[in-house]
Amino acid sequence: MHRPPTVLAIGGSDPSGGAGIQADLKAIQVHGAYGMAAIAALTVQNTLGVLSVREVEPAWLVAQVRAVLDDIPVDVIKVGMLGSPANVRALSRAIAGFRGALVVDPVGIAKGGRALQGEDTLRALQELAGRATVVTPNLEEAWAFREGVRLIKGGHGEGELLVDRLLDAQGRETARWEHPRIPSVHTHGTGCTLASALAARLACGDPLPGACSTAICYVQAQIAASSAGLGRGRGPLWQL
Ligand code: PLP
Repeated sequence: MHRPPTVLAIGGSDPSGGAGIQADLKAIQVHGAYGMAAIAALTVQNTLGVLSVREVEPAWLVAQVRAVLDDIPVDVIKVGMLGSPANVRALSRAIAGFRGALVVDPVGIAKGGRALQGEDTLRALQELAGRATVVTPNLEEAWAFREGVRLIKGGHGEGELLVDRLLDAQGRETARWEHPRIPSVHTHGTGCTLASALAARLACGDPLPGACSTAICYVQAQIAASSAGLGRGRGPLWQL
């Protein structure tokens, strides 16, 4: 038997299991790849909101990533919340020789309103994003990520019809997906889930537009399937 496709997710921990690394691992597994995780930041949060954030030291982040890369073949790296510009720079150096696909999800402000990482970190991420196979900003983050291939997620848009757009490095639209808004507040972790599902499908060999389609359809279906909620706030995708 061949080895499985593999994805290394690098990001923040959400102890309530809805977003961050915990969501990543579920989405990777569901989409047919073996998931691994290096933790760049710890958060204290639940469905009611983010209470605090603490990033790990760059040396610890790099040690985790190296331990995996030195031992296990990694097809795709998915980057989420890194927590500090120093972590972004250290990670960039640590994966400079990585030749697989790179998915960068620029985590900005949590749906509860709290900034998960500062503007300085997002600025540092722009450089890493320049090397990415695809970057997945939402509408608010898109202004800061204007180069390279981007899947711009329309979920934060106004109106009843949401549009996700895949743009090439010249800013030309190469694919678009339109879907009606699903009336649910239980959307915690949708961004992490989408980027990780996409990363897993790339690891499985799907071309980028197909991987985007699968990830978008999955998140849509999960929003509908999880609309009964879990917790007292903005519930997670169940990913069941
Ligand atoms: N916590 C962590 C660790 C994350 O990486 C993210 C997402 O990007 C969130 C929280 C935010 O989740 P949401 O805005 O979907 O509630």
